[in-house]
Amino acid sequence: MLALTRDDVRLKCKADDWQQALALAGAALVEAGFARPGYAGGLLERERQGSTWLGSGIAIPHGTPASRGEVVATGVRVLQFPDGVAWHDGHVVHLLVAIAAQSDEHLDILRQLTHALGRDGAEAMLARAEDADAIVAVLGHVETPPKLDADTLCLNLPVRSAAELALAAAARLQGLGCVQPAFVAAVASQPLIPLGPGLALVRSAQAVDVPALALATSQAPVEGGLFGVFCLAARGEAHRPLLERLEQLLARGAVAGLKGLSADTTLAVLAGEDGETHTGRVRLLNAHGLHARPAKLLVQTARAQSVPVRVRVLEGSPEAISAASLTKVLGLGARRGQTLVFSAHGETAEAAVAAMLAAVQDGLGESVQPLNEVVQPREVPAAQTEALPAAPEPGVAMAAIPASPGLAVAPIYVLRHPRFDYPEKAASPDHEIGRLDQSLAQAAQQLDVLIQGTQGAKVANILSVHIEMLADPGLRDAALESIHEGASAEAGWWHAIDTAASAQEALADRLLAERATDLRDVGRRVLCLLCDTPLPEPPDTPYVLVAEDVGPSDVARLDTSRVRALVTAKGGATAHSAILARALGIPAVVGAGEAVLQLTAGIELAVDGDAGRLIPAPDPETVRRFERRIEEQARIEQEAYQNRHEPACTRDGHRVEVAANLGNTAHAVDAVERGAEGVGLLRTEFIFMAHPDFPDLKTQIAEYGEAFDALAGRPLVARTLDVGGDKPLPYWPVAAEDNPFLGMRGIRLALSRPEVLETQLRALLMAAGSRPLRIMFPMIKDVEEFRAGKRVFDRLQAEIRAPDVQLGVMVEIPSSALLAASLAAEVDFFSIGTNDLTQYTLAIDRGHASLSAQSDAIHPAVLQLIRLTVEAAHAHGRWVGVCGELGSDPLAVPVLVGLGVDELSVTARRIPQVKAMIRRLGMPQARELASLALAQPTAAAVRQTLETAVAAALEPGQD
Ligand code: PEP
Ligand code: MG
Repeated sequence: MLALTRDDVRLKCKADDWQQALALAGAALVEAGFARPGYAGGLLERERQGSTWLGSGIAIPHGTPASRGEVVATGVRVLQFPDGVAWHDGHVVHLLVAIAAQSDEHLDILRQLTHALGRDGAEAMLARAEDADAIVAVLGHVETPPKLDADTLCLNLPVRSAAELALAAAARLQGLGCVQPAFVAAVASQPLIPLGPGLALVRSAQAVDVPALALATSQAPVEGGLFGVFCLAARGEAHRPLLERLEQLLARGAVAGLKGLSADTTLAVLAGEDGETHTGRVRLLNAHGLHARPAKLLVQTARAQSVPVRVRVLEGSPEAISAASLTKVLGLGARRGQTLVFSAHGETAEAAVAAMLAAVQDGLGESVQPLNEVVQPREVPAAQTEALPAAPEPGVAMAAIPASPGLAVAPIYVLRHPRFDYPEKAASPDHEIGRLDQSLAQAAQQLDVLIQGTQGAKVANILSVHIEMLADPGLRDAALESIHEGASAEAGWWHAIDTAASAQEALADRLLAERATDLRDVGRRVLCLLCDTPLPEPPDTPYVLVAEDVGPSDVARLDTSRVRALVTAKGGATAHSAILARALGIPAVVGAGEAVLQLTAGIELAVDGDAGRLIPAPDPETVRRFERRIEEQARIEQEAYQNRHEPACTRDGHRVEVAANLGNTAHAVDAVERGAEGVGLLRTEFIFMAHPDFPDLKTQIAEYGEAFDALAGRPLVARTLDVGGDKPLPYWPVAAEDNPFLGMRGIRLALSRPEVLETQLRALLMAAGSRPLRIMFPMIKDVEEFRAGKRVFDRLQAEIRAPDVQLGVMVEIPSSALLAASLAAEVDFFSIGTNDLTQYTLAIDRGHASLSAQSDAIHPAVLQLIRLTVEAAHAHGRWVGVCGELGSDPLAVPVLVGLGVDELSVTARRIPQVKAMIRRLGMPQARELASLALAQPTAAAVRQTLETAVAAALEPGQD
């Protein structure tokens, strides 16, 4: 949003006609350095296509799309014509807001100006103003409302003065990063403004980074019976509506009851929920939060009620939104474990709220698990490239993110989103609204037809969410708002879509943020109809689909029997394209970067969905190798599954244990069914994350007991709480750090609160009874840290005496691999966390958007550290497991076995294949493969070398 200042305003301009006024506007933009002289022609041309008259004596001239090349920087100049200019459409203009914009920023400015249009006397004031500030004040600008939530409340403090309350509130805002120290100092010198009985306000606009409102209350009244101080960090006027709401609440006497209340009840009071409001709360249990599908059902339920229903997230802002608007509901960003608060007024309010609660409890169309279950897929962000890159070289392998397993070789079909060319403005809003409504209806019909013809419930479900998005009154209203402001149906609709999608993208939860793709997907469908542009048609022979990102309706429209693989330039492993590919069993590689879009249509592409690799125009030998592997894989997978319960012994009888990685104890049954010989890594922090507060001893015993029961005597390797870095625990906040991966995480954090570690260790030991329990500490850097953890363990074990327990460490920091000999003398076992070991060895953040493809755990430096660890462990008679993702990598398995790793712990789905692979190996060949890999200089060289060498080692008759 552009904010106007007095320097942007030119007072007392004069022009004989509208063309001259436009020429002055163009010159002002050029003088300000926003545009080149050629832009003036664009302003004129745009005006000829349709008037930019807005109302209240304002016009907003801006260039045509063709003239955007003349824009140097986005900017605005306001020209005042006190005598008025006769505009070509019959109006008189007193103010020109001339815009130089490279995209559609003018629509934002337009929205901003509508605030001015509604005000009484605005036109006369703008025409006559003698001072630039007066014009700026009338035009105003829209800003984000202040942050107000449970975080900004500090309640029931043991303070003795109002000043302490004000400072406590200001300090809280500083702690949250909303303000800088100068704000706190400013608040200290501000007088308190009485608000009403017992309450006061203190405010400052100094050193405010994020506008926010904090509230501090005291345990006992302080001077003058005061018990609460609101502290406002103001920026602009965005806090006005909030303060007005507060004033209304004060007038109703509602806020006087804030004394001694909890955060929840305080937020309810601030939300205006009173005796007249019927409210109900319900915990959201859906694994991925309130994403599109459940949100759709929630919205449908709200729309079916006879009274309007509002909803807010208990842990969020006390501003409730309409539960009948899909975009608003999605914008809540509600996650699993958060509480939704529904409210309604009127006779049938109680029934309406009850219906909402029941719908959420039923899972909103999804099967939901109680909070002691959690599914936390690791999300890999998309690779990003900045400039338009060159096409990939033929025959040269490219690395990207594996999203769905399997191999394919086929000619590519590059799906490009159609280009739309439409006028930005239109003369008749009614006509435009008619066109938009017709296209919305046609798009819904198209989607209905697609749903009938689609394979698989998942695709159909996603498409039905699209239908729901089309029916969202929030989207249509936003489009209509722009249309009434003079936008064409196309521009209004796309602005509404883009705004909603951008809001979705800004959400912290990546899974919810990725639903923005759905919005744009459905938005393009409607644009195609409005612009009469055909949707792209794929070939009717088998192909690899290459696209920037693949929306669900793209997939549904394609004949999936012909799509051999999906490749996307953008998107992470949890993008819909990836989810759909997995659901449809299509190999997929995502986040391959913009370069893939430069590939020439029709050339062959070899896709390896297991390793996340692409080879454009592969040579005949590579093609033959891929084809052999495709056939082979189908056969092996079937055989592997049949033999999943057999042990994994190499051809020469060397046994390697294959266990499962779990983040959820309820999945232990499934892991055993897939052939797991134990749990090799229980990520206990995911169990903690599924609780709103630290689970108590009893709860933890029950959780761990569930895994032990399912394992029926097989060992459980539990990692103690590994919080911090990329895994925050909401109720264990860690102070902001520049490098969280190098800060308070893992064992360092756990040792800072030994009582938490102690309860966890006690629960594990008690749950185990006589069953085999292996406990390991995460992120150990040397023996000293291990000893600190062991002291806690020893104290408990002396008391509980669980008979079959081992205590080990994770090797995921290079120092612990390098010092493995000193650790091996004291630990019972090692488990190598290759995910973190790789990030710390290669100095690449494991979630880095553009570098993650280079962060390959098969790197020879990582393999060297594994070798050191195994050698040190075996010299002391200790066993070594690998529990990072490398253990599932088909090329790495033989190397790890060859390095002497005793146990591989992998995602349950991969267990049959990993076991089968080990059975096809001989130890001498595995050792040779390990030496070969260790001798390579780079990860790419390791992969290249192993590709043929592993295939040869797995051939029968190698002994
Ligand atoms: C690892 O770092 O390899 C590991 C298994 O732990 P996590 O992925 O949970 O950090
Ligand atoms: Mg780790």
